[in-house]
Amino acid sequence: KLYNQVQDLKGSIRVYCRVRPFLSAQPIYSSTVDNIEDGTITISVPSKNGKGRRSFNFNKIFGPAASQAEVFSDMQPLIRSVLDGYNVCIFAYGQTGSGKTYTMTGPKEITEKSQGVNYRALSDLFLTADQRRDTFCYDVSVQMIEIYNEQVRDLLVTDGSNKRYPFSYACLVPVSSTRDVIELMNLGQRNRAVGATALNDRSSRSHSCLTVHVQGRDLTSGTILRGCMHLVDLAGSERVDKSEATGDRLKEAQHINKSLSALGDVIASLAQRNQHVPYRNSKLTQLLQDSLGGQAKTLMFVHISPEIDAIGETISTLKFAERVA
Ligand code: ADP
Ligand code: MG
Repeated sequence: KLYNQVQDLKGSIRVYCRVRPFLSAQPIYSSTVDNIEDGTITISVPSKNGKGRRSFNFNKIFGPAASQAEVFSDMQPLIRSVLDGYNVCIFAYGQTGSGKTYTMTGPKEITEKSQGVNYRALSDLFLTADQRRDTFCYDVSVQMIEIYNEQVRDLLVTDGSNKRYPFSYACLVPVSSTRDVIELMNLGQRNRAVGATALNDRSSRSHSCLTVHVQGRDLTSGTILRGCMHLVDLAGSERVDKSEATGDRLKEAQHINKSLSALGDVIASLAQRNQHVPYRNSKLTQLLQDSLGGQAKTLMFVHISPEIDAIGETISTLKFAERVA
C-alpha cells in the first residue's frame, strides 16, 4: 500500500536498469552484479577489507539474459499511450559500452530478434493504429536529431548539408509503415557517421533523439489527439579525466557532463514535484521541455556493464538513477 502511494507521488517518472552480458563467451572475472531480485540490484564493491555490497531499487531491472522482446514488452503500454495523446520520453543512460544503443536500436547487424526499442515501438504503433482504423485515423511523422557540443544537427537531411540549427527546425518526415521508418533510421545513422572515424566514435559523445509525432482523429467525434515520443540515446556518462583530456576532447566532456547533470536535475525536480524545474540549463532539456513534466511520462533507462574495471562508472550510474527515482 505504502509502496503504491510512493509510486503515485513519483507520478509518471519511472527508472529501469539493464545489465549488459559479458561480451566474450568465457568471462575472466565474475560479474560485479551480485544479485537481482524484483526491483533490487546488489553490486559487490571491492574495498580494502574484502568486498562491500550496495543495493539499489528501481521500478524494473533486466539481467544480462533479458531479451530485446522482453525489454520491449515491458515498455509497450508506455509507448502505446502516445496513441492516446500522451507525451513520452525514454532516455538510455550509461557509460560507453554499457548497451544503450543495443537497447534503443540493436547490435551492429540487426536481425528481427535483436531489434531494439525504436523499431519495435514504431511497428507496434502502426499495428495498433491499424487495429483501431474503424474508430481512429492516425498520422505519424518522425524527426531525428543529434546534439553535439550543445549544437543541434538534423539527421534526416538528404542533401548532405548537415546543417546546424539554432534550435529545433529539424525536418518532420511523414511515415506510414515500418519500412519507411527503417529507411529513415538508416539515413539518420549514415548522417550521424559523417565526420566520425573508428577511433573517434562521435556517437558515444553526442545525444541522439528519434522523435515520433502522432496525431489521431476520432472518426465519430472529430476530436484530435496529439502525442509525441522521444527516444533518446544519450552520450556516454563516463567521466573524463581532466588531467588527460585536452582541447576538443575536454570541451566535449564538459558539454556532456553539463547536459547529463542538467537532465538529472530536471528529472529529480519533477520527481520531487518542485515548483521550479531548471529546463534552461542544457539544449537537451530545453528541446524536451514540453515533453517532460505535466502529463508527460518519462522513463530513465540506465545501463551498466558487468566488468570489474567498470565498477566506478557502474556505481555512479546507479547513484544517478537513484537520485531521479
Ligand atoms: P553503448 O551504446 O552504451 O556505448 P552498445 O549498445 O554499443 O553500448 O553496446 C556495446 C557492445 O555490447 C555492442 O557490441 C553491443 O552489441 C553489445 N551489447 C550490449 N548490450 C547487449 C545485450 N543486452 N546483449 C548482447 N550484446 C549486447
Ligand atoms: Mg551507443
